[in-house]
Amino acid sequence: MHPDVEPPDSDAPVLAVDIDAICRNYHRLVDLAPSAEVAAVVKADAYGLGAAEITPSLAASGCRMFFVALPGEGVALRRVLPTAEIAVLSGPSPASLEPFRQHRLVPVLNSLEQLAEWRSIGPAAPPAMLHIDTGMGRLGLGPADVAQLAATPDLLDGISISAVISHLACADDPSSPLNESQRAAFAAARQHLSELLPNHRASLANSSGIFLTPSYHYDFVRPGAALFGLHPLIKGPNPMEQVIELTAKILQVRDIDRAMTVGYGATYRAGRGARIATVAAGYADGYLRGLGNRGRVFIGDQAVPVIGRVSMDLITIDVTGLPADQVRPGTAVELIGAHARTDDVAEAAGTIGYELLTRIGPRCTLYYRGRVT
Ligand SMILES: *Cc1c(COP(=O)(O)O)cnc(C)c1O
Repeated sequence: MHPDVEPPDSDAPVLAVDIDAICRNYHRLVDLAPSAEVAAVVKADAYGLGAAEITPSLAASGCRMFFVALPGEGVALRRVLPTAEIAVLSGPSPASLEPFRQHRLVPVLNSLEQLAEWRSIGPAAPPAMLHIDTGMGRLGLGPADVAQLAATPDLLDGISISAVISHLACADDPSSPLNESQRAAFAAARQHLSELLPNHRASLANSSGIFLTPSYHYDFVRPGAALFGLHPLIKGPNPMEQVIELTAKILQVRDIDRAMTVGYGATYRAGRGARIATVAAGYADGYLRGLGNRGRVFIGDQAVPVIGRVSMDLITIDVTGLPADQVRPGTAVELIGAHARTDDVAEAAGTIGYELLTRIGPRCTLYYRGRVT
């Protein structure tokens, strides 16, 4: 067990990241996909939560394969993961060939152009992954590229392909027909390339794809969001554990003795007798502006509405009716956490958990629970 360090006493909002909870989420996914290896997608600094802090614990939990988006993220990750496989989803460019080689990063080749780029390294090019587009319409070889590759084996001269991957567009909705159609397109592309790539590994599922049938699991799965507690499905209870807690302090409490408006734009009118607390967190900390007049924060177990607009550094909340000793300057308010879960806060802001997580600001004081090092 890792003893909890006391959370910092900070005037800035505090983002607590529970690394043990991330590892428990990892193990949940391992249990759900027993026939597959579970890689960890830690692009955008582990969805904003700190890849360098989190990934050594995931490695200690058995994770051997990590995905990032950019070569620079791979270079940074290599410093903390000297032996793991690190794959880079955006693939190589002329400028990044050298970092790929130097830091043993595995490129995901997304086009015939990137394939040619990787071949330019010469006969000793390290193994790469090949990305097939099966319906996302974003990155990867389309059917015509696959046909061209199958008909022109020379395109792979000097290159070894360790894995063929694709990415699902609607896996969070098990009833979407696109899931099955992408799975069929993936099978067709792999069949087409079977002579050229007889021994490759295959991967299709992100977090949500793991929750479809086991036929989506293949050799390895690539969860990101679910590790960090986001709900992998559009319906039903969230099977993942909440991982973060964002708290901030009350700066000031005021009793409204004459009706008045609160905040920029005067979008909220507080009546006589109301009590309003101002909290030291705002959109610069990642408490999104869309939460103005819509968000709910928690003081203890008590839900409290955000009133008025979210400012850069401040929000205002209506604490009318709460016992005075629970709403004082210095009282901690939960903005995101066990009560205000990440997905729910994101939904109130009109966005998704992914965006909310990755926008939590650098101004917050970071604090890790259960860290391995
Ligand atoms: C981001 C990403 C993932 C992880 O997706 P989650 O929904 O966060 O699990 C997997 N594969 C690819 C190609 C990605 O871009």
